[in-house]
Amino acid sequence: MADDTASTSRRRLMQDATAGLVTAVAARAVAQTDTANSTGTADASPLADPRSLYPRPPFPAQQQPWPGLAGRMTPRPDHGETSYRGTGRLNGRKALITGGDSGIGRAAAIAYAREGADVAISYLPAEEPDAREVIHIIRSAGRKAVALPGDIRDEAFCKALVEQAVSGLGGLDILVSNAGRQQSHNSILDITTEQFDWTARTNLYAMFWITRAAIPHMPPGSAIIYTSSVNAYEPSANRLDYAMTKAAIANFTKGLATQMISRGIRVNAVAPGPFWTGLQVSGVQTTENVERFGEQVPMGRPGQPAEIAPVYVQLATPQASYVTGQVYGAAGGAGQP
Ligand code: NAD
Ligand code: MG
Repeated sequence: MADDTASTSRRRLMQDATAGLVTAVAARAVAQTDTANSTGTADASPLADPRSLYPRPPFPAQQQPWPGLAGRMTPRPDHGETSYRGTGRLNGRKALITGGDSGIGRAAAIAYAREGADVAISYLPAEEPDAREVIHIIRSAGRKAVALPGDIRDEAFCKALVEQAVSGLGGLDILVSNAGRQQSHNSILDITTEQFDWTARTNLYAMFWITRAAIPHMPPGSAIIYTSSVNAYEPSANRLDYAMTKAAIANFTKGLATQMISRGIRVNAVAPGPFWTGLQVSGVQTTENVERFGEQVPMGRPGQPAEIAPVYVQLATPQASYVTGQVYGAAGGAGQP
């Protein structure tokens, strides 16, 4: 009986949350169309309270096997599919985004394409359904899309990935190293060497291999953007190995920036707080944590990937020419940098 009640109320929540998301997105789309018609610009959004723009916890309990699919999440994350409108800020750019199939990387891919960039996305073969949607959206924006499935824990694949991105795009001037592995372990005693190695290879080694392969192709004016985390500054007790890699990414960003300015390449990172993505429902959070996800930050809800994409756009644009060696945060009022 209790279970029935719980599942009924969860179903209601799912419906409400989904409806809320659709309403918010639709409201913005309508308002943007009106504004675009009256002013001829595409960057105006209606004034809105950020607390009520998107679904708030509690969320329906859900878990997926790693790496998780955005298409199977409830509510579906908003990656800007119906809302992001570009203004040509990245016209003619050529971007490689790892983990571009879902979550934060997908939101960046959609935004980049709508800003005029050709985009290559890397992802795991198991994520083909998510990746297909992104490829379709990039092509619908009139841009070139390159799909690069494979496992970045392998050095040879990382090299091939960059070569295929360069040949498919006809060059490379934006690298977003964003793919990440995160699993929860309550004690260090539970972290196997295999798990530790998996996290380090995905989050650090692959970042290093892909960056090293990419730099010789990147002309002055290019931008490299990493995805760090609030965990770099405030490590979660149950994500020791993950948090460590995210701190290393922030450090690597600053070190590499000082080196790469000799080539005219800017290097920055983004440090997200809690975002509603597949990463969070595929082995990281307990069921209870998923239901309450995002509750702990002042905004009282998780971010949607669409809400962080503009930071990736900003860091890639030539207008940010003086910005290098920085870590930009977006965490609903929490987190450091
Ligand atoms: P996500 O699961 O949607 O994206 C992560 C992507 O990493 C996957 O889609 C997958 O394509 C890629 N990936 C993982 N292992 C791989 C491998 N071995 N080979 C190839 N690709 C692989 O989740 P997300 O939250 O959008 O994650 C993107 C980045 O954001 C990650 O680096 C994550 O650590 C970081 N981040 C996320 C949050 C959050 O709350 N969601 C918070 C802070 C930082
Ligand atoms: Mg994915």
